[in-house]
Amino acid sequence: MTKYRSLISLLLAFVATLLVSCSSPAEIKPPTYSSEQISQIQGYAAEISALRDRLPELQKLIQKEDWIYVRNFIHGPLGELRFKLTALSRNLLPDAQPEANSLSKEVFDHLVDIDRAAQDSNYKLAVRNYAEALKDLDAFLKLLPQG
Ligand code: ZN
Repeated sequence: MTKYRSLISLLLAFVATLLVSCSSPAEIKPPTYSSEQISQIQGYAAEISALRDRLPELQKLIQKEDWIYVRNFIHGPLGELRFKLTALSRNLLPDAQPEANSLSKEVFDHLVDIDRAAQDSNYKLAVRNYAEALKDLDAFLKLLPQG
């Protein structure tokens, strides 16, 4: 009888462990990127990095107070930046998306402010927003999965 009872309690313990391990949320694997998502992200990331590398050209134009070319640069080469940032954000894991979206908006808003500063020949405003745009864009690129 004692043997039988200990067998039962052993079984119950086993079932309990099984239930705990099945229902514990800690056991659920966090979502990860598929290889297809990674290659899509890398495609956009390469285009965004290429635009990021051209930002010093914008800085030079601001320093020269060449306002017409500042505006041309924002509407030309940088014109697609927002679209690319938004498209890339949509491919990120759900928990990375809110920050990516707000950084995308930040970058865009700073470019709009540079454009406005150029219209008003406001050097200080342009320089400050250039620095902010660069900082936010670099923060955005750091959110991307490495690999
Ligand atoms: Zn900002």
